[in-house]
Parts: sequence; C-alpha cells; structure tokens
Amino acid sequence: MIASIDSNFCTGCEECVISCPDIFELNLTTYLAAVKVSPVPADLEGSVKSVASECPVSAIKITA
Ligand code: SF4
Repeated sequence: MIASIDSNFCTGCEECVISCPDIFELNLTTYLAAVKVSPVPADLEGSVKSVASECPVSAIKITA
C-alpha cells in the first residue's frame, strides 16, 4: 500500500504526524506533511487508512 500527500490540499495541521509518526512527518522546508516510509508496512496499513479518513482536507491518498 502506498500513501501520498497532495500538497495542493495539505495545510500542515500535523494531525497525521501526531497520529501516525512512523509514516508521516512534517517537511520543515514546506511545513506540509510528507510520507517517510513507502510502501506502508502491513502492520501500519490500518492506522494509515484511519488517519487518511480523518485528514480534515482529504489530502492523504492511498493506492494499492
Ligand atoms: S492531516 Fe492532512 S492536512 Fe493535516 S498535515 Fe496531515 S495531510 Fe496535511
């Protein structure tokens, strides 16, 4: 599973970084979220799906 951030929508609110720090980090140049592990490890797929559904601007995209 691949997670990606749509930088056109991400506001840098850090909700995903706080909820799932093993996968998401804040890019300190852009102050937007970034994915730091790809593909997503199987044991974190559920967490990433949950975080994606909770992103306030639906900026986290998931592909198989
Ligand atoms: S939760 Fe969404 S808007 Fe907030 S930092 Fe993560 S991707 Fe960006």
